[in-house]
Amino acid sequence: MLHLLDIPHDQLTAWLKAHGQPAYRAGQIRKWVFQSRAASFDDMSDLPKQLRADLAAEFTLWTTRIALHSTAGDGTEKLLLQLADGGRIECVLLRDGERRSICISSQVGCAMGCVFCASGLDGVQRDLTTGEMLEQMLRLQRLLPAEERLSHIVVMGMGEPLANLDRLLPALDAATREDGLGISHRRITISTVGLPPAIEKLIERDTRFHLAVSLHAPSDELRNQLVPVNKNIGIAPILAAADRYFTQSGRRLTFEYVLLGGVNDARQHAEQLAALLRGRTALLNVIPYNVVAGLPYRTPSAASIRQFREILERAGINVQFRERKGDEINAACGQLRRLAPANLVALDVE
Ligand code: SAH
Repeated sequence: MLHLLDIPHDQLTAWLKAHGQPAYRAGQIRKWVFQSRAASFDDMSDLPKQLRADLAAEFTLWTTRIALHSTAGDGTEKLLLQLADGGRIECVLLRDGERRSICISSQVGCAMGCVFCASGLDGVQRDLTTGEMLEQMLRLQRLLPAEERLSHIVVMGMGEPLANLDRLLPALDAATREDGLGISHRRITISTVGLPPAIEKLIERDTRFHLAVSLHAPSDELRNQLVPVNKNIGIAPILAAADRYFTQSGRRLTFEYVLLGGVNDARQHAEQLAALLRGRTALLNVIPYNVVAGLPYRTPSAASIRQFREILERAGINVQFRERKGDEINAACGQLRRLAPANLVALDVE
């Protein structure tokens, strides 16, 4: 069986043609899947009955099942999805005023090895397919009441999105299309550890997205410890590639900085960071560390957070402290992992 969400638009059109159907049926199908929240081909009531049967014989709409659905008091919801091959990933719906943002994963696990993040604790198992990334969006969309729409996407879940760009871009294309989720490019953020050749590739392919670069340290010495892949990359080439993305896109860059108590939150780090970012059209997003069970890091004190903010603000850096959302269900940044804690797996739904 082919996964419908994994099929490029022109392939579906060709299949329809081969079945004696007009090309516009592809748009109808897309609208059913992305907008009318069809659960099966049978729901697609304006398609001929025979076509619905043919589609169902050839394609599957869903390849994942919801292994766990958690809800937090702040409106955040998290899904643990079981993939067809048994792999597991997580994705999150966040509510903030009118915003309905989702955070999706791009790989099963992660190869980057950032020492404070849960997603890479067991390395990477494989890339997600385009269809599996779209399925996260659709599963989360279907948690919303009918009158609400998804407004923002962050590719900030498990995995390194720029290491899976060829599969990610078609998924984001479906998310932006008029007959898809209709979310504008500027409301989609791709978050990367900073892989310069992949940033260059993104520049060639599409510069309409919002790019966020996970920096976490103002010097290579410290970044090499926190983000091991940095040893082969270095901060300067990452900033150069990010600057080129900005030049091409005109979109303000975001730099992310996980603030780890006693590790990268000292006065000198704030000063070095300010010097590094000065002159750039960028937003610095500081994320106080979210606790990951089994890791030796701690959330910074209120006093060190205040000091960090003051130094950067005084230096004229546009800085924002990310509000913590979803941490009561381990759905906050860096807390997504492949497996739910053993005691929760017992709650499997569906
Ligand atoms: N690989 C991509 C996307 C996944 S990480 C990247 O590196 O950007 C998404 C964001 O969550 C990153 O900024 C990451 O550093 C941050 N993060 C990871 N672990 C965290 C933790 N324990 N607490 C707070 N933020 C964390």
